[in-house]
Amino acid sequence: MTDAAPITAYIGLGSNLDNPHTQITRAFDALAVLPDSKLVARSPLYRSRAVGPPQPDYINAVAALHTRLPALALLDALQGIEQAHRRVRKQHWGPRTLDLDLLLYGEHTLDLPRLSVPHPYLSERNFVLYPLADIAPTLVLPDGRSLAALLEHCDRDGLVPVNETELTTGAVSGTHL
Ligand code: AMP
Repeated sequence: MTDAAPITAYIGLGSNLDNPHTQITRAFDALAVLPDSKLVARSPLYRSRAVGPPQPDYINAVAALHTRLPALALLDALQGIEQAHRRVRKQHWGPRTLDLDLLLYGEHTLDLPRLSVPHPYLSERNFVLYPLADIAPTLVLPDGRSLAALLEHCDRDGLVPVNETELTTGAVSGTHL
């Protein structure tokens, strides 16, 4: 690590294939061992209705990292974790074993060919905003909007915390169609 102050990055995690809650738990473990980084918070797990074609519900969560990795190196690392989970994605918006999105990279706003931060869907997706609020309730986006204000206009709409029964049985394959 360099001596530069670490950046706080927020990562959105999602999975709706191959035992999703295990995918998310293992993804947290992988984030915890990223180089030049420290996993500082993991949100509770939520179950959300899938966007796009009919498919199983997702399990979602958000992680906070303190990192000294440059933004694109962090994106590379996240994509490496996705590949390690043998990510399957046959269609746009289709089911996937693991999706990792870089939601926020400190105060930075980036519009690069491979990377847009804040993530374009950050402000409108309940499965991002609610777990983010669990670990960073006072967060303010680089454009000055507060997370609290965004949540006022974001319904839970089928987003539910994963209960203990689901965690112990893995029974999370139901769909809302
Ligand atoms: P998806 O798997 O559908 O989330 O899209 C992955 C693609 O989005 C990759 O090609 C990334 O380079 C690109 N991308 C752009 N901005 C981001 C971001 N903030 N987090 C993750 N992927 C991103």
